[in-house]
Amino acid sequence: MTKNILILPGDGIGPEIVAEAIKVLEHLRATAGLAIALDEAPVGGAAIDATGEPLPEATLALARQADAVLLGAVGGPKWEPLPIAIRPEKGLLGLRNQLGLFANLRPAILYPQLADASSLKPELVAGLDILIVRELTGGIYFGQPRGVTTLEDGTRQGRNTLIYHESEIRRICRVAFHAARKRNKRVCSVDKANVLECTELWRQIATEVGADYPDVTLSHMYVDNAAMQLVREPKQFDVLVTTNMFGDILSDAAAMLTGSIGMLPSASLDETGKGMYEPIHGSAPDIAGQNLANPLATILSVAMMLRHTLDQPAAAERIERAVSDVLDQGLRTPDILSPGMYRVGTAEMGDAVVAALNKGP
Ligand code: NAD
Repeated sequence: MTKNILILPGDGIGPEIVAEAIKVLEHLRATAGLAIALDEAPVGGAAIDATGEPLPEATLALARQADAVLLGAVGGPKWEPLPIAIRPEKGLLGLRNQLGLFANLRPAILYPQLADASSLKPELVAGLDILIVRELTGGIYFGQPRGVTTLEDGTRQGRNTLIYHESEIRRICRVAFHAARKRNKRVCSVDKANVLECTELWRQIATEVGADYPDVTLSHMYVDNAAMQLVREPKQFDVLVTTNMFGDILSDAAAMLTGSIGMLPSASLDETGKGMYEPIHGSAPDIAGQNLANPLATILSVAMMLRHTLDQPAAAERIERAVSDVLDQGLRTPDILSPGMYRVGTAEMGDAVVAALNKGP
């Protein structure tokens, strides 16, 4: 059955990198019989310019109908003076909420060809392959009550609320255990159970869910220790599962271990496995429109889409092998360029991946 993919190019480098991902999808459609239909819609700043809103109803309706969404990136200086409620980033948050995308999967993989790009010593990170599973629609980012109030004495007080229902913890833990089963069968649940009752509950539920997965080893770690261990000995981890805020911070730290923000994909999934796929980086306005952006994170997001939503693991592996192949050839966009390698632009990198796909089985 034909799967509908909604493409949301967004702003800045978004349209450039998404164009390369589309080349890959079109190639698989033409050569591997991938049954897909592509649609496109504006989101973020592009949507504000077109309609006055970062997430127009029409875009949301298409996203609801689609089997999967591929997003470039949103935002940029042009829209920064706008009130927070109608900034481009609201388009992204709106999509996550409206589509119920509660599970954020962020792999941090260091391609051996790029081991020198890491801020850590190559022996600590060579072969690094971690998956961070972050809860995305709950926790302190959404908890009520929240806000800043002025007290009777005229001073101000800020407040946010960390709140998780056990069902929210259970479903994200299941995603993590499920993913671990397809990897090295280890889950580390990260909390602050020594201080926060809410994450004491998190630890209990993670343990309960773990009992359903006897083939997967569960460990627990306090978030401060997890931050330390990520930069001390990152290869000890397989899958990390954690709250929205802890995951936000730890996944950025893990991304930096790989040294290149332009290489990392992500997936945000709902209860049924439908997902939104996007590179972890932003819209990079500093290099937009100059054929400088690295499209590989977006192309690897397509691979995640094929694996997690479209149930095409062989096609996903084909893309991942093609990316590794272009790195073996020494092709590098400026963000991952090192001495002795060949500098290419966004479009040339996309073309090289398509050419490498042709070589595969
Ligand atoms: P950024 O990720 O856009 O850029 C950080 C740095 O990394 C820049 O120097 C940029 O040139 C570089 N970079 C990023 N992606 C690259 C790529 N594919 N190839 C080569 N270099 C790349 O982060 P920022 O500068 O903090 O934010 C810029 C805008 O993006 C802001 O408006 C921000 O709100 C938005 N943003 C959007 C998302 C998203 O859409 N998911 C995420 C983060 C930031």
